[in-house]
This record gives sequence, structure tokens and C-alpha cells, in this order.
Amino acid sequence: MYKIKLNNSLTRKKELFKPINTKNITMYACGPTVYDNPHVGNARTLVVFDTLFRVLKMIYGDNIKYVRNITDIDDKIIEMAKKKNLPIEKITKEVTDIFHKDCKSLNCLKPTVEPRATKHIKEMIEMTSSLINKNFAYENKGHVYFSVSSFKNYGKLSNKNLDELKSGVRVEISELKKNPMDFVLWKPSEGNEPGWDSPWGKGRPCWHLECSVMSEKYLGKKFDIHGGGLDLIFPHHENEIAQSCCNSSTDNLANYWIHNGFVTMNKEKMSKSLGNIVTISDAVKKYTGQVVRLTLLSAHYSQPLDWNDEILNSQKNTINKWYNLYEDTSEENLLDISDSLLDDLNTPGFIAKIHELYSNAQNGNKKSKSLFNSACRLIGLFNVNKIEWENLKKIKFDISEDFIIKKINERKEAKENRDYVLADKIRKELLSKGIIIEDQKNKTNWKFK
Ligand SMILES: [Zn+2]
Repeated sequence: MYKIKLNNSLTRKKELFKPINTKNITMYACGPTVYDNPHVGNARTLVVFDTLFRVLKMIYGDNIKYVRNITDIDDKIIEMAKKKNLPIEKITKEVTDIFHKDCKSLNCLKPTVEPRATKHIKEMIEMTSSLINKNFAYENKGHVYFSVSSFKNYGKLSNKNLDELKSGVRVEISELKKNPMDFVLWKPSEGNEPGWDSPWGKGRPCWHLECSVMSEKYLGKKFDIHGGGLDLIFPHHENEIAQSCCNSSTDNLANYWIHNGFVTMNKEKMSKSLGNIVTISDAVKKYTGQVVRLTLLSAHYSQPLDWNDEILNSQKNTINKWYNLYEDTSEENLLDISDSLLDDLNTPGFIAKIHELYSNAQNGNKKSKSLFNSACRLIGLFNVNKIEWENLKKIKFDISEDFIIKKINERKEAKENRDYVLADKIRKELLSKGIIIEDQKNKTNWKFK
């Protein structure tokens, strides 16, 4: 039986993944807060956990339950609605639609369940009441706070004690709190802010609580893998653990905590607050979803990934030449050649393997060709919808076949005229566009680099 090793943020070690139940693998990844167009930083989390989902399927079959939520109630959404003077439902619907379109462009599989926060308010009120009854939370003027000092493992995931955490983060100051680090579970809604009736008056749930409730509902009190971006470790995931473990009397919420690194631009984290974002839709429009996907997988998920035209153009060349060889043929079992993926989802290692298969396939090795096709599909390349396939065709013909043939003929003429300088110039020009030409007895063949 093949097994995967994963770097667990909780233990800070690479560990052999041992599922609670091999017949029902459970994974939760924090999904988007639908207030604005998702950007490439968000796309990385999507593509990383989609790839992990695919690799788990390869190992365990279809027994994987993958839950990715949609946060459709949050202060950021309320602020955006005020700013744009639009109803909240209009914003959340529009952004959710864009998000789904982006997922499709990036060829992400649908998660098993995609719960929305606003459909789980009843359960959120129940968990909040339960935490108050068990003395882990307290109410003050319509606000309900979680008391961090009631949970002895608080800070375990971030590997920091309360004082260290306090100094490293902006804490919301409020005289309603007993301890400045306490965080809010439920808050009152004023005026026409969206709100639901609760034992503490009209109000709304807070982000951390939403994920605790939805993960328990669909995956149980304890599950296998919990994922998200690196910036979610604190406070979001720390708070999820505190709420869920205190409420369920469990020692942990998930056994393996996996976090992907940031996408940067000029070495600065891509984020809405810094204003240095590229939306997924814009990146897909410029490069196609497949190029964006391959770029996101070109660095190990735990490392930072710098977003620039150089890396995108290089991945575009790779997609061009692979697309040229790819065929939708029967599935090969890839476990024997997936050692890199089984070693903490080392996608750059696996991409190097695909390059190797590509070269062997080009040299006529049929088995390599068949493995190449399956390997591309495994990481979500080429088995795409019609629109994306048409987009791929377009990037391929950035350099049209007519252009290549015209250049080959010009070079032939130059050689006949003994103008070897011009002939060499043409060869180099084609090479700079990723085209290799090979002279044979009576003709010249071309292929992608
Ligand atoms: Zn979450």
C-alpha cells in the first residue's frame, strides 16, 4: 500500500499520513470570503488542495470527503456592500459565481461538499450556547467571547504562548472582553446589517466559528486533514481548534494541518490590503487557466512563489509543447512513478518527471507517452472543459504553424544561396520562440523545445 508523507504544521514534522479510517478520508480546506474577486494568492490554496485531493484519490480511491466552505457572512462583506451601495446578497452571489468560474478555469475538481455559512446559523447558535454552558465562553452586551485562558493548548498550532501571540498581532481592543486575547464568536447586528435572532439578541456569527461548525457537521468532531493558507494559522486555525476541542472534549480537531505558502510580487505578499493583487480571472485571461495552474504547482506548496511574467512565460512554453504531444488515452497506474508527490506533495519533482516522460515519449517510447498522458491528468492538466481547451489552442498558435513553415522555407532558400549567416539567424529566431528545427536528408522537421 502506497502512503503519503505530509508536513504537519501542528507537530512541525514531516509525518506518514495515517487516516482515521482508510475507507473514509476526511479533509477540510478554508474557502473564500465572498466579498471581492479572488486573486492568485487565493488560487494557490485552491490548486494545492485540489492536487492533494487528486493524489489522495489515486491512493485511496474515491473514499475522500473534501469540504471547502464559502464564507458569505463577514464584516468585510458588510463593508463592501456599504461601499458599493449594493445589497449583501448581490455581492455574495456575484463573487461566488466568479469564484466558481475561476475554479473551473483552474480545472479544480468540485469538493464533496461546499457549505455556506449562512445556511448553518442554527448550528452556530447551538455551538455558541454550548460553549457558554461549558464555561469556555461568556456573553457581554450582545457579544459572545471565547475565553482563551480556558483552553490550555491555545497557541499550540502557532507554537507560541499567549504573551508572544499578543505581541505579534493586532488585537481588537474592547472593554467588553475579560482578556484582550479573547475572540468574538457572535456579535450584535445594528440597523440594516444582516442579523439573526439569538439568545443574545439580533446578531451574526464570526468567521472562526463558521469553520468549526461546518467542519463538524460534514466531517465529524475529529478528522484527518485541515488546510489553508499560511496566514490562517493564527488566529483563524488556532481559534477553530480552541472552539471545537473545548466544545467536543477532544484533544485535536484535525490530525494533520497543512498550510501553503504565499504568492508574492517582487517578494512582497500578494494581498488585498497591500493592493498588489492579480485576480484569477485576469491571470487566466492573459495566460489561460492551465498555465496559471502549472505555475502555481511549479514551486513546492510550502514555499513562497513569486508571480512574474518570466515564470509565467516559461510555464506557457511548457504547456505549449506538452499540449502538442498530449492525448486523451487510457489511464495508467501512476503510483510507481509518484514518489515525489507522495513525499509531501512535491509537485516540482513530479513536473520534472513529466519533462522526462515527455522527452522519452518524443523519442518514440510508447509506454512513456502513455505515462506522460496520465501524469498530466493527475495534476489537473489537459483533461479540461471545452472553453479551456479552445484557450489552449490559442496559446499554442501564438506561433502559428504557417509562420514556422514560412521560416523553414526562408532558411532553405538562404542555404541554397549560401547565405549561412541568414540561415543561422532564422534558426535562432525560431529557437527563441521555443521551436527546434532538425535537418534531415531531404526535409526539415520542427518540434517544440
Ligand atoms: Zn476556516
